[in-house]
Amino acid sequence: MKDSSTTWLTSLARPEIAAMAPYRPASWEPTLVRLHANEMPWSGGSDGSGEGLNRYPEPYHDALDDDLAAFFGVDRGAAFATRGSDEGIDLLVRAFCRAGHDSVLVCPPTFGMYAAAAHIQGASVVSVPLVRDASAGASAGFRLDVEGVLAACSPSVKLVFLCSPNNPTGNLLDGAAVDEIVNRLSYRALVVIDEAYVEFAGTESYAARLRANSNVVVLRTFSKARALAGVRVGVILAAREVIDLARKVCPPYALPQLSIDAVRAAISETAVVAMHARLDTIREERARVAEELRASPKVVRVWPSDANFLLCEVVDAASAMSAARGAALLVRDFSTSTGLSNCIRVTIGTREQNDRLVEAWS
Ligand SMILES: *Cc1c(COP(=O)(O)O)cnc(C)c1O
Repeated sequence: MKDSSTTWLTSLARPEIAAMAPYRPASWEPTLVRLHANEMPWSGGSDGSGEGLNRYPEPYHDALDDDLAAFFGVDRGAAFATRGSDEGIDLLVRAFCRAGHDSVLVCPPTFGMYAAAAHIQGASVVSVPLVRDASAGASAGFRLDVEGVLAACSPSVKLVFLCSPNNPTGNLLDGAAVDEIVNRLSYRALVVIDEAYVEFAGTESYAARLRANSNVVVLRTFSKARALAGVRVGVILAAREVIDLARKVCPPYALPQLSIDAVRAAISETAVVAMHARLDTIREERARVAEELRASPKVVRVWPSDANFLLCEVVDAASAMSAARGAALLVRDFSTSTGLSNCIRVTIGTREQNDRLVEAWS
């Protein structure tokens, strides 16, 4: 059932953003000659792309967004491509949080950009840490404190960021816990589910709930499983009202033509088939490397992972960091984050790279 009362979303936004008229860029009519945007009529001498980079790209890439909506299985108008999902996070915070008044809620240890975007906007950050369960076996991981999140959701909280699978802990959040938060914050706050790593988990995207829950926003990216970090494209999937607000905050021509083209190629059937083959390899390596690292005397614990990285608790983070560097490998030290003392995040690389890490930590 389509949630028909979505006007609450416009009221949740910053009033000045809700009220402002969108900026109107030069019109986009590719069949006509462009003498309306002060571009040069020829490609530049250094432009070997064959694209005609003398021309601006489509200002708000509507055609790409339509294709992305179909690709991610949401309604037309429910997808908006951004410069990485980092920009998606920033646009949401700027559209919904008034400086000095509003806040975002995060569940650390988690991705640092949510808090960074809030600080830049002058919004405050409410933290409700994930609950660390260090028991052996399948229940080990970092769980949502559902009651804690709901209790901390005062009216000033506009956005609740949930990351699933979570970076840097690697685990999916429990679906029933996410549902509970989404349902109880209905008509009160947006629940932003960052699915940067969902392809590695092989689970269904939460975007399937968009039609029923107008307070759900899903972030996807081309940077991780789709192997296009260099093109900087992410996607916001949300109710049309949320997309319209994000578009108002986003400058026109934000996505370079070469990035638009790269994403079009990445949503082709052949690219998707190739991605799935690579995902299988990453998952096999993830299991193999986790098992080998668990056998190392320098490793205390390898947390279960649904992503393309492993969070490892080591005996001594400083010496594990320098052992990795000694093998010309960069890994990321999270020992100063909430609940992560002596924890290091390791991305799954090629078999040879992974072997080098196992060797360095053996
Ligand atoms: C890597 C990452 C992103 C960022 O992605 P871009 O699309 O490259 O900006 C977003 N969220 C999480 C949790 C990430 O780990």
